[in-house]
Amino acid sequence: MLPGLIDAHVHPVWYFNSKGRLHTRDDGDTPTQSLHAALANLAAMLNAGFTTIQSVGSPEDAILRDSIRSRGTGPRLLTSLEPLTDKSGGPDSLRWLVRQRKQQGADLIKIFASASIRDGGAQTMTDAQLQAACGEAKAVGLRTLVHAHSAAAVRAAALAGCTQIEHGIFVTQDVLDLMAARGTYFDPQCGLVFHNYLDNRAKYEGIGNYNEAGFAAMTRALPLATAVIRQALATPGLKVAYGTDAVAGAHGRNAEDLVCRVNEAGESPMHAVVAATSLNAAALGLADSIGAIAPGLVADIIATDGDPSSDITALRRVTFVMKGGRIVRDGSTPP
Ligand SMILES: [Zn+2]
Repeated sequence: MLPGLIDAHVHPVWYFNSKGRLHTRDDGDTPTQSLHAALANLAAMLNAGFTTIQSVGSPEDAILRDSIRSRGTGPRLLTSLEPLTDKSGGPDSLRWLVRQRKQQGADLIKIFASASIRDGGAQTMTDAQLQAACGEAKAVGLRTLVHAHSAAAVRAAALAGCTQIEHGIFVTQDVLDLMAARGTYFDPQCGLVFHNYLDNRAKYEGIGNYNEAGFAAMTRALPLATAVIRQALATPGLKVAYGTDAVAGAHGRNAEDLVCRVNEAGESPMHAVVAATSLNAAALGLADSIGAIAPGLVADIIATDGDPSSDITALRRVTFVMKGGRIVRDGSTPP
């Protein structure tokens, strides 16, 4: 038995449409079809033991969060709503957008500070833009999650006081040390997101930057990803959170990166479990309600077939899920 798992980086509205392709705005699917697909993704994650997830992010998340709250089905959902990018405007526009997100009910702010790994990952947002977005968010009491691949982008985000940095495929030891010194959470992915894209290549190929060069970049990223996690875990004082970046095809397999971190990057199983529970709860600012089994916290409790502290693959065999004191799944119900 262990606390409900937390995934700090998911995309619940991503799904494969009726034509077996990544859903896009103009593919003919109705809003109802899209909503049902997203709810199925959320159910898959909850059944897999992820009682809390953080979506980064989409405007459609608001309706999902409301649906979960009113119907009581689905994981606890935190969302950034629509992310901010270098195209969102100058520092003043970004400050205004941060306040707008707050008003719209965002739980955090998601910021793209670099290009996608499929486009090389170089810094896109200026230092001034990052300082404005992360500074304003802090001033209004919101956390900031920053997509950044290049060392320069990671450095700029850490120096701007952003809360957590995602991905970081091209980090160097000096920026890992900088994050540790500044208390910045680091959320690198181990393998699920890349394997999922490569395994489902036909469903993504030809859409946006899912092209020959993009898939080649993701193949090259695989060994880098495990090396980054190894290096991050060996960096004294660095808080290495847990987020899978689960997109279409990966929902419900959110524990796979924990298996990867242990088996491919050498993390101890218990350290990995802590990353996905109490450390992530602290990263989300929710350590007083989730991430542990203790008096006074909400009862998010799961059970596994096997002991994940010695065999991390036991997290693939979640047999019981309780969220907020309510049983979602018991041993007799199939996922
Ligand atoms: Zn993402």
